[in-house]
Amino acid sequence: MKIEKIKLPSPFPPNHTNSYLINDLLLVDAGVNSEENVKILEKFSDDVILFLTHPHADHFGAAYLFKFAYGHEITCKRLKDAEEEYFELVYHHFISEGLPESLAKKMQERAKERYRGYVIPCDNCKKAPERIKVDGDVFEVIHTPGHSFGHLCLYHKEKKIIFCGDIVLEDITPNPVIEPINEEKRLCVLEQYVETLRKLYRLEVRKAYPGHREIRRNWRELILSYVDNWRKRSLEVWKLAEGKTAFEIATTLFPDIRQIFLAMTETIAHADFLLSNNLIEKRGMRYFRCSEREEVEEMWKRIEERITRGGRDR
Ligand SMILES: [Zn+2]
Repeated sequence: MKIEKIKLPSPFPPNHTNSYLINDLLLVDAGVNSEENVKILEKFSDDVILFLTHPHADHFGAAYLFKFAYGHEITCKRLKDAEEEYFELVYHHFISEGLPESLAKKMQERAKERYRGYVIPCDNCKKAPERIKVDGDVFEVIHTPGHSFGHLCLYHKEKKIIFCGDIVLEDITPNPVIEPINEEKRLCVLEQYVETLRKLYRLEVRKAYPGHREIRRNWRELILSYVDNWRKRSLEVWKLAEGKTAFEIATTLFPDIRQIFLAMTETIAHADFLLSNNLIEKRGMRYFRCSEREEVEEMWKRIEERITRGGRDR
């Protein structure tokens, strides 16, 4: 199998996105729409099919350059309006979690300004099949929600390789990004992320190709390090649940207001998860602890066991 790594420049941290050309036929992710990126991508012939791991600007912004793309249904949907509807709902949720409306408005305006042009709306995306054949190589398409509900991985069972987008990265813990269903409801993204890790831990992986940087660590060891990071963050959110709103918790944990989007989304993910496990409660917009620290620790221990047990019974 021929795999060519193409490093695409990106305005978002960590300032590049990895794209991979498999057997000269399938390209995994396209990066943002930018002048320098278009120059790189234009070299690909019309025969190259694009595979989109997930609907984030730094992965699907330049998808319009290709005749044909595969992605999750959500990815295809968000590509059509360049995520406009999604962001509308996100700010609605942020406001209902205590973000001052004036700040939300400012953020929205700034995001629009920053975003404008990075994602070009298009409708060349089709729902990915369960398997994709690239020359002689057959890849399983695995649904891996958590960082984005529309996240997909490509797994080659015989060769034990995986193209894992942003769901597993090294040196950066991917954000469990907020996933609104409508103005009131949203998915419990951390619950989905845990389930995804359980699924991914079971796979035999010799080499992983991530959306950013490189993965050198052992696959299963890396997955377990996520649980450890979440356990720590979870305890921080639990501790701050003393009548604070998610916005107040977020700005206590991450005082840098420039990071407010990621701070809000991570705090909400943890609050939703603690809430669904009955470890905190919500009155109006405010969160309150209703458990002991040990109960939070125990929950994460059980989660780790669930993930590793899944690895053994295969
Ligand atoms: Zn992403």
